[in-house]
Amino acid sequence: QTGGQKSLEMPEWKKIASGKGELGKRTNMSIKDQRESLPAFKMRKQFLDAVGKYQLLIVVGDTGSGKTTQLTQYLAEAGYGNEGMIGCTQPRRVAAMSVAARVSDEVGCRIGEEVGYTIRFEDKTSDRTRIKYMTDGIMQREILLDPELQKYSVIMLDEAHERTIATDVLFGLLKKTLKRRPDMKLIVTSATLDAEKFSAYFNECPILTIPGRTYPVEIMYSREPESDYLDAALTTVMQIHLTEPPGDILLFLTGKEEIDTSAEIIFERMKALGPSVPELVVLPIYGALPSEIASKIFEPPPPGGRKVVIATNIAETSITIDGIYFVVDPGFVKQTAYDAKLGMDRLQVTPISQAQAKQRAGRAGRTGPGKCFRLYTESAFQSEMLPTTIPEIQRQNLANTILMLKAMGINDLLGFDFMDPPPTNTMLTALEELYALSALDDEGLLTRLGRRMADFPMEPALAKSLIMSVELGCSDEMLSIVAMISAVQTVFHRPKEKQQVADQKKARFHDPAGDHLTLLNVYNGWKGAGRSDPWCFENFIQPRSMKRGEDVRKQLVQILERHRLKIVSCGRDTMRVRQALCSGFFRNSARKDPQEGYKTLVEGTPVYMHPSSALFGKAAEHVIYHSLVETTREYMHNVTAIEPKWLVEAAPTFFKVAGKDGMGMSKRKRDERIQPLHNRFAAEDDWRLSSQRRQ
Ligand code: ADP
Ligand code: MG
Repeated sequence: QTGGQKSLEMPEWKKIASGKGELGKRTNMSIKDQRESLPAFKMRKQFLDAVGKYQLLIVVGDTGSGKTTQLTQYLAEAGYGNEGMIGCTQPRRVAAMSVAARVSDEVGCRIGEEVGYTIRFEDKTSDRTRIKYMTDGIMQREILLDPELQKYSVIMLDEAHERTIATDVLFGLLKKTLKRRPDMKLIVTSATLDAEKFSAYFNECPILTIPGRTYPVEIMYSREPESDYLDAALTTVMQIHLTEPPGDILLFLTGKEEIDTSAEIIFERMKALGPSVPELVVLPIYGALPSEIASKIFEPPPPGGRKVVIATNIAETSITIDGIYFVVDPGFVKQTAYDAKLGMDRLQVTPISQAQAKQRAGRAGRTGPGKCFRLYTESAFQSEMLPTTIPEIQRQNLANTILMLKAMGINDLLGFDFMDPPPTNTMLTALEELYALSALDDEGLLTRLGRRMADFPMEPALAKSLIMSVELGCSDEMLSIVAMISAVQTVFHRPKEKQQVADQKKARFHDPAGDHLTLLNVYNGWKGAGRSDPWCFENFIQPRSMKRGEDVRKQLVQILERHRLKIVSCGRDTMRVRQALCSGFFRNSARKDPQEGYKTLVEGTPVYMHPSSALFGKAAEHVIYHSLVETTREYMHNVTAIEPKWLVEAAPTFFKVAGKDGMGMSKRKRDERIQPLHNRFAAEDDWRLSSQRRQ
C-alpha cells in the first residue's frame, strides 16, 4: 500500500525545451517494408559504391538507422560473402547475439546457418555462415591465430565510438592486416561525430553519413540533486505511466542487481495500484541475461498497456528498441577502471559523460517526439560531467592486451599505432604484472608459459593457475573450477522467498578451504548425480549454469590437449589446487586484520569477506580472492584459504619473506623492487622505438 502511495509523488522538473509530445503510429510492417524504411536503405547504393571503391570506409549514422543489421546484409547481397565471411564486431555479447538473431530472421535462416555469431565459449557459426557477428574480443583472438584473417572478405568494426580496449587494439592490428590483404575491406561505424578523428587515424579515408531521422526530445532536469537516484527513477517511471500519453519507457540503471530490484519494486507498486491502472510490462536487460528474455524487449506492449525497459548502457547505442517515447536517465554507469590503490581493475559506478547523456536522450526521439527525464540538475550536467567518455584503454588494466600483443610478436608497445595511446605507466604496470606471473622474462620477452597463457581466453591469472595445475597434478579439478568461474556469475539459486533454505543447501557444499573448492564440490556433486536437473532443483543450483560450465570445461580441455598438457586428478589432496590458485592470484592476497576484516598484502587496503563466502565467519588467516566487488564495502568474491609460503613459492620475484612478522612487502620495499623493473622495460621499449626509427 505504501508503495502505491509513494509512486504518486511527483518529482519536480524544470522544463528546458519543448516538443510536440504526440504519438507516432505503430504499424505492423512486413520485414521487407521494415528494412526499406530504415535510413540506411536510402544510402544502400552509395554505401556499396564506396565499399567497391575504397578499402577503408567510415560510416556514421544515428543509432537505429540500420548500420548493424543492414550494412552486413547489403554486403552479402552484393556478393561480398561469397569469397570469405563478412565479419561484424560488437563491443557486447548480448548485442552480438541479439543482432544476429534479428538478421537471421530478416534473411530467413536459422541462427548458425547463413547468419551466425561467436562469443566467448559459444560458437554459433557453420561452413555456411556468411555474416558473422562476434564480440570484438573474439576478433582479437582470431587475429592472434591468423593475422591475415584469411576467412574474411570484409570486417566491420561496429560501434567504434564505444572505444573498448579490444576495438582500439583492433584499429591498429587491422590497419596492418589491410596492408597485407589488399583485397580485404574494413568498415568502421560510429554513432557519434568522432568520425573526423577516425578518418584522420585511418589514412584520411572517406566518411559516409547516413542522414538521421529523429524527432525533438524534450529534456527535463531535476531541480535539486537527487539523494536517492534509484527511488527517484522508480517514482518517475510510475509517474510517466500514470500521467503521460502512450509510449514506452526506457530506464537506464547500472547493473543486474539494481535492475532486478527495480523490476520487482515496479511490479509491486503496480500490484498495489490495482486493476484499474493500465498494464505496465517490466522488461529487464543486461549483459548476463539469458537471450530468450532479451528478445522479449522487442515485442510490442499489450494493447492499451505500456512497457518499461530497464537497461544498462547496452541500450545507449548497441541495441535499439522501437516505440520508446520516454527516457529516464539517472546519469550513472558502471564501468571498470584501474584502481591504483588495489592494483587491479574494479567495477565502479560513475557519472556518465555529456555525450552519453545526449545519446540516452536521443533514444526517446526515434519513433516520434519524446521526453527525457534527467535525474540530475542542469548545472551538474554542465559542470560535473566530462564532455566525452575516456576510452577504456586509458583507464583499464592492460595485462591481457599486452600479453596478446606480445603473443603476436609485437614487442614495440610504445611504438604501436594506438589511436589514443594508453598512459606509459599503465603499460609498465601491466608489463610488471606479466613479469611477476612469469609470462615475460627479464628482457620483457614472452616466455613459453606466457605464450601458452595467451591461448586461454581468460584473464592471465586464471590462465596461469590452470596451466600450473598440470605440474601440480590437479588439472582435472582446476578445469572444473576455472570453467565454473569463467562460465557464469553464480551457480547458486537464491530466490527471495526461499533464501534460508537456499543458504542451508548451499552450506552443504561449503569446503573448509573456501569457495573455489566449494565450486568443485558442486560440480562433482552434479556430475555424480548424472547431471540431472531434479538434483539441481533439489539443491538450489541453476541447471543452465551447470550445463554452460560443462560446455566451457570441454572447450578448455581442447586447449589443454592442443598444448599437450595432461589432465591429472589430485583426488583428495586438494591442497594442490589451492597452491595452483596462488600461482595466478598471489596479487589478490589478504591477511586477517586483528581489528576487522582483512587487509591486502600488496597495498594494505581494507577488504572484507563477502557474506556468501564459504569462509564467512571462519578464521582463515591468509586468503586469496578472485575479484573484489564494491557495494557498501570492498568485498572479496571467491575466496580461498592459503599458506603464506605458497605465495613466495608462486611468485618469488614479487614476494619475499619480509622479517619474521610474516610476508608481503611494504609499499616502499615493493616500489624499490619494482622500480628497476620498470626502468628495464622502459629502456627496452625505447630501444625498440629507436630501432624502428632506423628502419
Ligand atoms: P544501428 O546499428 O544503426 O544502431 P540497427 O541496425 O541495430 O541500427 O537497428 C535497425 C532497426 O532494427 C532498429 O529499428 C531496431 O529497433 C531494429 N531491430 C534490431 N534488432 C531487433 C530485434 N531483435 N527485433 C526487432 N527489431 C530489431
Ligand atoms: Mg548498431
